[in-house]
Amino acid sequence: MNEITLVTGANKGIGREIAAQLAALGHTIVVGARSAELGEKAAAELGADSVVLDVTDPASVAVAADAIEARYGRLDVLINNAGISRPPGTDLSNQRPASADVGTLRAIFETNFFGVVTVTNALLPLLRRSAAPRIVNVSSGAASLARNADPELAVHLPISAGYTPSKTALTALTIQYARELRADGVLVNAVCPGYCATDLNDHSGYRTPAQGAVAAVRMATIPAGGPTGTFVDDEGPVPW
Ligand code: NAP
Repeated sequence: MNEITLVTGANKGIGREIAAQLAALGHTIVVGARSAELGEKAAAELGADSVVLDVTDPASVAVAADAIEARYGRLDVLINNAGISRPPGTDLSNQRPASADVGTLRAIFETNFFGVVTVTNALLPLLRRSAAPRIVNVSSGAASLARNADPELAVHLPISAGYTPSKTALTALTIQYARELRADGVLVNAVCPGYCATDLNDHSGYRTPAQGAVAAVRMATIPAGGPTGTFVDDEGPVPW
């Protein structure tokens, strides 16, 4: 069956690679991008469709959902990939807990947490029309509470009151959606792409975006009745 798949933030980075790999598997990809121009460009290169979608703007998300309904009548896979590590023009020092700029933290949560709720709830009616609905939330193993609470492991992780807890909250949110939607057959899982070289981290990551896409692609292609409420990377379960 032809799978209809929306990837948010798919104009570049890991989202674009998720879109490319799922397109190669035969999915009909809808590139979600907040810039119409960048979304259309990526879609043309990927042989995909596109919608304008800013996850922090409920009106734009509603218009995107309407467009997908008009074009396809349903959605099989939603990949909540769009995310930011810091608002444009801010420094990561603004996220140190003891000196945090609360506006910076709010802006990060607006995209990485509340944006996922906005997009998911707008698309759920279309996902419920699928024979095998799947939601994949792109979280981060660097936001694992277990890793951050372990002094030896945490040595390698940034201290952050912004990006890190926004992703911890996203993982927690994933579980809550999985719990609520389990009875309806909607599979909801969180994935960690690993540390990938993208604009998000000024290309400091040691993995490629293509490698980072693997876990999301895997969870986007699980069959009906497959796992839900899990948090995995491409090697298996990630500690909570
Ligand atoms: P990226 O290259 O900066 O791409 C981020 C994407 O999200 C871009 O398409 C960006 O669009 C989009 N975006 C940001 N805010 C948006 C909004 N309000 N509405 C719609 N789209 C928005 O970063 P990436 O590394 O590929 O990140 C993708 C996901 O992986 C993020 O959720 C990130 O937290 C997660 N992740 C990344 C790493 C890593 O090492 N890179 C590790 C763990 C998790 P614009 O082009 O318009 O800015």
